[in-house]
Amino acid sequence: MSGSVTRKSNIEDLNQEAEGMRLQGKKVLVVGLARSGVSAAALLTRKGAHVTVTDVRSESELTGCVEPLSSAVELRLGGHDTKDFLASDLIVLSPGVPASLAEIQQALANGIPVISEVELAYRFLRGTFIGVTGSNGKTTTTSLIGRILKSADLTSVVAGNIGDPLSGFVTDEESGPADTVYVIELSSFQLETICRFRCDVAVLLNITPDHLDRYSGFSAYTAAKERILLNQTENDFAVINHDDPTSWKLAGSTNAHIFPFSKGKRLEEGVFIERGKIIIRREGGDQEVMPVSSVSLKGEHNLENVLAAVAVASLLGVSRDHMSHAISSFSGVEHRLELVRRFRGIEYYNDSKATNLDSASKALQAFETNLIVIMGGLDKGADFEQLRSLVSRRVRRLILIGTAAEKISSALCGAVPISHAEDLNEAVHLAAASAKANDVVLLAPACASFDMFENYEHRGKVFKNSVMALN
Ligand code: ADP
Repeated sequence: MSGSVTRKSNIEDLNQEAEGMRLQGKKVLVVGLARSGVSAAALLTRKGAHVTVTDVRSESELTGCVEPLSSAVELRLGGHDTKDFLASDLIVLSPGVPASLAEIQQALANGIPVISEVELAYRFLRGTFIGVTGSNGKTTTTSLIGRILKSADLTSVVAGNIGDPLSGFVTDEESGPADTVYVIELSSFQLETICRFRCDVAVLLNITPDHLDRYSGFSAYTAAKERILLNQTENDFAVINHDDPTSWKLAGSTNAHIFPFSKGKRLEEGVFIERGKIIIRREGGDQEVMPVSSVSLKGEHNLENVLAAVAVASLLGVSRDHMSHAISSFSGVEHRLELVRRFRGIEYYNDSKATNLDSASKALQAFETNLIVIMGGLDKGADFEQLRSLVSRRVRRLILIGTAAEKISSALCGAVPISHAEDLNEAVHLAAASAKANDVVLLAPACASFDMFENYEHRGKVFKNSVMALN
């Protein structure tokens, strides 16, 4: 089966896209100085802009980020100054910075354009753009698509929230070979401030409550995700989860050709599972890709990610053999249902990236056996009561850590025996002491990590070290 995605990007298109992006002599403020901020600042400087970068963190907290900046870049660290925002011709946001920031709102009210780093880079790149968004599964799906494209020898890069910032791929005025496929993980924050960015293939995995502490409500969060579909044309494709009602409702928002996926239903067109096989249905014909039993990833939720990746690969003309080879050898990404150790008949899993209710409940559902679950951290406004029935069915003991511990404990009181631990290391020891052979100890926090850790990776590493030190 041949692919269907043909990007008509040529140099004229590219120049048109970059129009209105003439940066020579412009004052540009980059907000947020992680890797994307550094990369955006470098690109802007090369294009002749006067660049200022600002971050709430101080210079000493930003080790590794300040050093690579050109000496021409001005620094405003350790807080924001509204004057910098209002004096700018253009503001570029790093992926972790929400457009709801007061200074950004003020700049917008004063007519100053605000764009995300991915939008900036897009104006200078040509190739095929695959965008992946959703509340959960973005990194897993983006990585898997990258693996499949690599195994099919397509020129591709994985960029955005994972991998390298997109700006880093802009080399000169007519940047990048036209046949490069950019697979880009897109958070809702990045999508809020895209304007012309258009995906040849947009992937919408799911929309479940998350970041409700940073949005006015679920509909505002959904509207941000919807933006991945808005610029698409009838030459583009939208790969949407048919089983997720909130995502599926947005299918009407795009002019793109919808190429859905479903775990549970045979589709007229799209990718689905039937009689234990992954099937692609296009132009009236079925093509069997592989048996579900050959998928290495654990958990039903990961099958959704696999189906989405198959849909994208199919649209790009990748052969079934390349897909199945890459999928069967893909064992997942660190900190996502990662098997850490089998010790004394007990398995220890690290799902530190389960930072919201949906991902934590998917983690619980991935196991048949008795679970000892370590949960807690920084609450993002979740209603933990929703975990009650799942917890009472699957979990033998819950061990709570972090500032959300009291809230979780009162929401789940009586559902399951609960213990409290001072820190993650103590939680691991309590878990090990109460686990029996054939049990699973699972870190599935359902919360952010910032109350006790630098980030979820740090939390996952601490968990793994404690588990490996058990004797
Ligand atoms: P994201 O980049 O969207 O945060 P990840 O692939 O990093 O997604 O996974 C985040 C968390 O969500 C992990 O705990 C993972 O096990 C879980 N997860 C992965 N895919 C899905 C899915 N399709 N639905 C729900 N949870 C998922």
